[in-house]
Amino acid sequence: MPEGPEIRRSADELNEALQGQFLERVEIGLPSLQPSHKDIVRQKVLKVTSWGKAMLIHLENALSIYSHNQLYGVWRVSARDKQPETSRSLRLGLHTAMHSAVLYSASDISVWPTQGLHQQPLLSKLGPDVLSDDLTIAQIKDRLSSPRFCKSKLSSLFLNQHFIAGIGNYLRSEILFFAGLHPDVTPRQLSCEQLELLAKATQSVCLRSYATGGYTVDETRWREALRRNDDFETSRFMVFDREQLSCRECSYPIERINRNGRRLYLCLSCQPSYSKAHR
Ligand SMILES: [Zn+2]
Repeated sequence: MPEGPEIRRSADELNEALQGQFLERVEIGLPSLQPSHKDIVRQKVLKVTSWGKAMLIHLENALSIYSHNQLYGVWRVSARDKQPETSRSLRLGLHTAMHSAVLYSASDISVWPTQGLHQQPLLSKLGPDVLSDDLTIAQIKDRLSSPRFCKSKLSSLFLNQHFIAGIGNYLRSEILFFAGLHPDVTPRQLSCEQLELLAKATQSVCLRSYATGGYTVDETRWREALRRNDDFETSRFMVFDREQLSCRECSYPIERINRNGRRLYLCLSCQPSYSKAHR
Protein backbone atom coordinates (compact mmCIF):
# COMPACT_ATOMS: atom_id res chain seq x y z
CA MET A 1 0.00 0.00 0.00
CA PRO A 2 1.39 3.43 -0.82
CA GLU A 3 2.51 5.47 2.17
CA GLY A 4 2.54 9.23 2.77
CA PRO A 5 5.42 10.05 0.38
CA GLU A 6 3.87 8.10 -2.51
CA ILE A 7 0.46 9.74 -1.96
CA ARG A 8 2.09 13.19 -1.82
CA ARG A 9 3.86 12.58 -5.12
CA SER A 10 0.58 11.49 -6.64
CA ALA A 11 -1.03 14.67 -5.23
CA ASP A 12 1.75 16.74 -6.82
CA GLU A 13 1.07 15.10 -10.20
CA LEU A 14 -2.67 15.77 -9.87
CA ASN A 15 -1.99 19.34 -8.78
CA GLU A 16 0.23 19.92 -11.81
CA ALA A 17 -2.61 18.83 -14.10
CA LEU A 18 -5.62 20.31 -12.29
CA GLN A 19 -4.62 23.46 -10.38
CA GLY A 20 -6.35 26.56 -11.73
CA GLN A 21 -8.33 24.49 -14.26
CA PHE A 22 -12.07 23.96 -14.61
CA LEU A 23 -13.51 20.45 -14.39
CA GLU A 24 -15.28 20.53 -17.76
CA ARG A 25 -16.50 16.96 -17.49
CA VAL A 26 -16.86 14.74 -14.43
CA GLU A 27 -17.47 10.99 -14.56
CA ILE A 28 -18.70 9.17 -11.48
CA GLY A 29 -18.58 5.39 -11.20
CA LEU A 30 -19.58 5.15 -7.57
CA PRO A 31 -23.37 5.29 -6.94
CA SER A 32 -22.99 6.91 -3.50
CA LEU A 33 -21.05 9.77 -5.07
CA GLN A 34 -23.57 10.46 -7.88
CA PRO A 35 -25.48 13.18 -5.96
CA SER A 36 -22.23 15.17 -5.71
CA HIS A 37 -21.79 15.43 -9.50
CA LYS A 38 -23.56 18.80 -9.63
CA ASP A 39 -21.24 20.16 -6.89
CA ILE A 40 -18.05 19.24 -8.74
CA VAL A 41 -18.69 19.73 -12.43
CA ARG A 42 -17.56 23.03 -13.99
CA GLN A 43 -15.80 23.99 -10.74
CA LYS A 44 -12.28 25.39 -10.70
CA VAL A 45 -9.61 23.42 -8.82
CA LEU A 46 -7.69 25.55 -6.32
CA LYS A 47 -5.16 22.96 -5.13
CA VAL A 48 -4.56 19.24 -4.67
CA THR A 49 -2.91 18.15 -1.43
CA SER A 50 -2.59 15.03 0.71
CA TRP A 51 -2.95 14.36 4.42
CA GLY A 52 -1.48 11.06 5.46
CA LYS A 53 -2.82 8.61 2.90
CA ALA A 54 -5.85 10.74 1.97
CA MET A 55 -6.03 12.85 -1.23
CA LEU A 56 -7.78 16.24 -1.02
CA ILE A 57 -8.89 18.21 -4.08
CA HIS A 58 -9.95 21.71 -3.05
CA LEU A 59 -12.48 23.49 -5.28
CA GLU A 60 -13.27 27.18 -5.71
CA ASN A 61 -16.83 26.71 -4.37
CA ALA A 62 -15.42 25.92 -0.89
CA LEU A 63 -15.98 22.19 -1.32
CA SER A 64 -13.25 19.52 -1.31
CA ILE A 65 -13.16 16.04 -2.76
CA TYR A 66 -11.78 13.55 -0.23
CA SER A 67 -10.52 10.17 -1.45
CA HIS A 68 -8.55 7.32 0.06
CA ASN A 69 -6.84 4.78 -2.18
CA GLN A 70 -7.23 1.97 0.38
CA LEU A 71 -5.46 -1.17 -0.87
CA TYR A 72 -6.22 -1.09 -4.57
CA GLY A 73 -7.07 2.47 -5.55
CA VAL A 74 -4.85 4.42 -7.92
CA TRP A 75 -4.96 7.84 -9.58
CA ARG A 76 -3.83 8.14 -13.20
CA VAL A 77 -3.16 11.44 -14.97
CA SER A 78 -3.10 11.64 -18.77
CA ALA A 79 -3.74 14.00 -21.64
CA ARG A 80 -7.50 14.67 -21.92
CA ASP A 81 -9.40 11.44 -22.65
CA LYS A 82 -6.17 9.51 -23.35
CA GLN A 83 -6.34 7.18 -20.37
CA PRO A 84 -4.37 3.96 -20.75
CA GLU A 85 -6.30 0.72 -21.32
CA THR A 86 -7.17 -0.87 -18.00
CA SER A 87 -9.52 -3.47 -16.57
CA ARG A 88 -9.85 -1.42 -13.37
CA SER A 89 -13.20 0.17 -12.43
CA LEU A 90 -13.41 3.91 -12.92
CA ARG A 91 -14.62 5.55 -9.70
CA LEU A 92 -14.07 9.24 -10.44
CA GLY A 93 -12.93 10.93 -13.65
CA LEU A 94 -12.02 14.63 -13.66
CA HIS A 95 -11.47 16.17 -17.09
CA THR A 96 -10.08 19.65 -17.76
CA ALA A 97 -9.45 21.21 -21.19
CA MET A 98 -6.00 19.54 -21.33
CA HIS A 99 -5.91 16.66 -18.86
CA SER A 100 -7.79 13.76 -17.37
CA ALA A 101 -7.26 12.60 -13.78
CA VAL A 102 -8.98 9.33 -13.03
CA LEU A 103 -9.28 7.41 -9.77
CA TYR A 104 -9.66 3.68 -10.27
CA SER A 105 -10.80 0.95 -7.87
CA ALA A 106 -11.08 3.03 -4.67
CA SER A 107 -14.49 3.24 -2.99
CA ASP A 108 -13.83 5.74 -0.19
CA ILE A 109 -14.64 9.01 -1.95
CA SER A 110 -16.84 11.87 -0.69
CA VAL A 111 -17.34 15.61 -1.01
CA TRP A 112 -17.09 17.89 2.03
CA PRO A 113 -17.16 21.61 2.82
CA THR A 114 -13.44 22.52 2.90
CA GLN A 115 -13.89 24.13 6.30
CA GLY A 116 -15.56 20.95 7.61
CA LEU A 117 -12.98 18.43 6.37
CA HIS A 118 -11.86 17.83 9.95
CA GLN A 119 -15.25 16.19 10.52
CA GLN A 120 -14.62 13.54 7.89
CA PRO A 121 -14.46 10.29 9.94
CA LEU A 122 -10.92 9.29 8.96
CA LEU A 123 -9.43 12.79 8.92
CA SER A 124 -10.99 13.64 12.29
CA LYS A 125 -8.71 11.06 13.95
CA LEU A 126 -5.50 11.67 11.99
CA GLY A 127 -2.38 13.07 13.57
CA PRO A 128 -0.35 15.77 11.79
CA ASP A 129 0.95 14.89 8.33
CA VAL A 130 4.56 13.75 8.51
CA LEU A 131 5.41 15.75 5.36
CA SER A 132 3.71 18.96 6.51
CA ASP A 133 5.86 22.11 6.41
CA ASP A 134 4.26 23.08 9.72
CA LEU A 135 5.37 19.95 11.60
CA THR A 136 8.40 20.61 13.82
CA ILE A 137 10.85 18.28 15.57
CA ALA A 138 9.62 19.70 18.90
CA GLN A 139 6.03 18.75 18.03
CA ILE A 140 7.04 15.18 17.14
CA LYS A 141 8.96 14.96 20.42
CA ASP A 142 5.96 16.28 22.34
CA ARG A 143 3.71 13.67 20.77
CA LEU A 144 6.20 10.89 21.55
CA SER A 145 6.31 12.03 25.18
CA SER A 146 2.56 12.59 25.59
CA PRO A 147 0.58 10.34 27.99
CA ARG A 148 -1.47 9.12 25.01
CA PHE A 149 1.50 7.67 23.11
CA CYS A 150 4.49 7.30 25.50
CA LYS A 151 3.58 3.77 26.63
CA SER A 152 3.15 2.31 23.13
CA LYS A 153 5.89 0.19 21.65
CA LEU A 154 7.57 1.98 18.75
CA SER A 155 6.53 -0.86 16.41
CA SER A 156 2.88 -0.07 17.12
CA LEU A 157 3.25 3.72 17.35
CA PHE A 158 4.89 4.02 13.95
CA LEU A 159 1.89 2.45 12.23
CA ASN A 160 -0.64 4.47 14.24
CA GLN A 161 -2.06 7.20 11.99
CA HIS A 162 -3.41 9.02 15.05
CA PHE A 163 0.18 9.57 16.20
CA ILE A 164 1.52 10.94 12.91
CA ALA A 165 -0.19 10.45 9.57
CA GLY A 166 1.53 9.07 6.49
CA ILE A 167 3.97 6.57 8.01
CA GLY A 168 3.45 2.99 6.86
CA ASN A 169 5.25 -0.30 6.94
CA TYR A 170 8.51 0.38 5.07
CA LEU A 171 8.94 3.77 6.72
CA ARG A 172 8.47 2.19 10.18
CA SER A 173 11.45 -0.15 9.72
CA GLU A 174 13.61 2.54 8.14
CA ILE A 175 12.92 5.25 10.75
CA LEU A 176 13.66 2.89 13.65
CA PHE A 177 16.90 1.83 11.98
CA PHE A 178 18.09 5.43 11.53
CA ALA A 179 17.15 6.17 15.14
CA GLY A 180 19.10 3.07 16.29
CA LEU A 181 16.09 1.85 18.29
CA HIS A 182 14.62 -1.58 18.84
CA PRO A 183 10.92 -1.77 17.87
CA ASP A 184 9.83 -3.12 21.28
CA VAL A 185 11.05 -0.01 23.12
CA THR A 186 8.48 2.57 24.29
CA PRO A 187 9.08 6.35 24.15
CA ARG A 188 9.05 6.66 27.93
CA GLN A 189 12.07 4.32 28.12
CA LEU A 190 14.08 6.72 25.97
CA SER A 191 16.40 9.52 27.00
CA CYS A 192 15.80 13.07 25.81
CA GLU A 193 18.61 12.66 23.27
CA GLN A 194 17.11 9.43 21.93
CA LEU A 195 13.69 11.09 21.60
CA GLU A 196 15.31 13.96 19.70
CA LEU A 197 17.10 11.54 17.37
CA LEU A 198 13.89 9.57 16.79
CA ALA A 199 11.90 12.73 16.05
CA LYS A 200 14.55 13.89 13.56
CA ALA A 201 14.70 10.46 11.88
CA THR A 202 10.89 10.40 11.61
CA GLN A 203 10.84 13.60 9.61
CA SER A 204 14.05 13.21 7.61
CA VAL A 205 13.41 9.63 6.42
CA CYS A 206 9.90 10.50 5.21
CA LEU A 207 11.01 13.74 3.52
CA ARG A 208 13.88 11.88 1.82
CA SER A 209 11.54 9.19 0.50
CA TYR A 210 9.25 11.91 -0.86
CA ALA A 211 12.10 13.87 -2.47
CA THR A 212 13.84 10.86 -4.04
CA GLY A 213 10.81 8.86 -5.13
CA GLY A 214 11.10 6.11 -2.54
CA TYR A 215 14.74 5.87 -1.42
CA THR A 216 15.31 6.00 2.32
CA VAL A 217 19.06 5.29 2.28
CA ASP A 218 21.18 8.32 3.18
CA GLU A 219 21.99 10.85 0.50
CA THR A 220 25.50 9.53 -0.19
CA ARG A 221 24.19 6.00 -0.80
CA TRP A 222 21.31 7.36 -2.87
CA ARG A 223 23.67 9.31 -5.15
CA GLU A 224 25.94 6.29 -5.48
CA ALA A 225 22.96 4.06 -6.40
CA LEU A 226 21.92 6.53 -9.11
CA ARG A 227 25.47 6.87 -10.42
CA ARG A 228 25.85 3.09 -10.69
CA ASN A 229 22.33 2.71 -12.06
CA ASP A 230 21.59 0.15 -9.33
CA ASP A 231 18.27 -1.66 -9.24
CA PHE A 232 15.71 0.51 -7.40
CA GLU A 233 14.24 -2.25 -5.23
CA THR A 234 17.59 -3.57 -4.02
CA SER A 235 19.20 -0.21 -3.35
CA ARG A 236 16.42 1.90 -1.82
CA PHE A 237 16.28 0.68 1.80
CA MET A 238 18.68 0.29 4.74
CA VAL A 239 16.84 -2.70 6.26
CA PHE A 240 13.33 -3.13 4.85
CA ASP A 241 12.93 -6.21 2.65
CA ARG A 242 16.62 -7.12 3.24
CA GLU A 243 16.26 -10.26 5.39
CA GLN A 244 19.58 -12.10 5.85
CA LEU A 245 21.47 -9.48 3.82
CA SER A 246 24.28 -7.60 5.52
CA CYS A 247 23.51 -4.37 7.35
CA ARG A 248 24.80 -1.48 5.21
CA GLU A 249 26.38 0.05 8.34
CA CYS A 250 27.84 -2.88 10.29
CA SER A 251 27.51 -6.02 8.11
CA TYR A 252 25.42 -7.84 10.75
CA PRO A 253 22.63 -9.90 9.07
CA ILE A 254 19.25 -8.14 8.87
CA GLU A 255 16.41 -9.92 10.66
CA ARG A 256 12.76 -10.07 9.75
CA ILE A 257 10.21 -10.17 12.57
CA ASN A 258 6.47 -9.61 12.78
CA ARG A 259 4.85 -6.81 14.75
CA ASN A 260 1.20 -5.72 14.59
CA GLY A 261 0.60 -8.32 11.90
CA ARG A 262 3.11 -6.69 9.54
CA ARG A 263 6.69 -7.56 8.69
CA LEU A 264 9.41 -5.45 10.27
CA TYR A 265 13.14 -5.55 9.49
CA LEU A 266 15.97 -4.58 11.81
CA CYS A 267 19.67 -4.88 12.57
CA LEU A 268 20.06 -6.16 16.11
CA SER A 269 23.58 -4.77 16.24
CA CYS A 270 22.57 -1.21 15.27
CA GLN A 271 19.21 -1.47 17.11
CA PRO A 272 19.94 -3.29 20.38
CA SER A 273 17.12 -4.17 22.73
CA TYR A 274 16.37 -1.76 25.59
CA SER A 275 18.39 -3.62 28.22
CA LYS A 276 21.46 -3.73 25.99
CA ALA A 277 21.10 -0.08 24.98
CA HIS A 278 21.21 0.97 28.65
CA ARG A 279 24.06 -1.18 29.94
ZN1 LIG B 1 23.82 -2.76 11.60
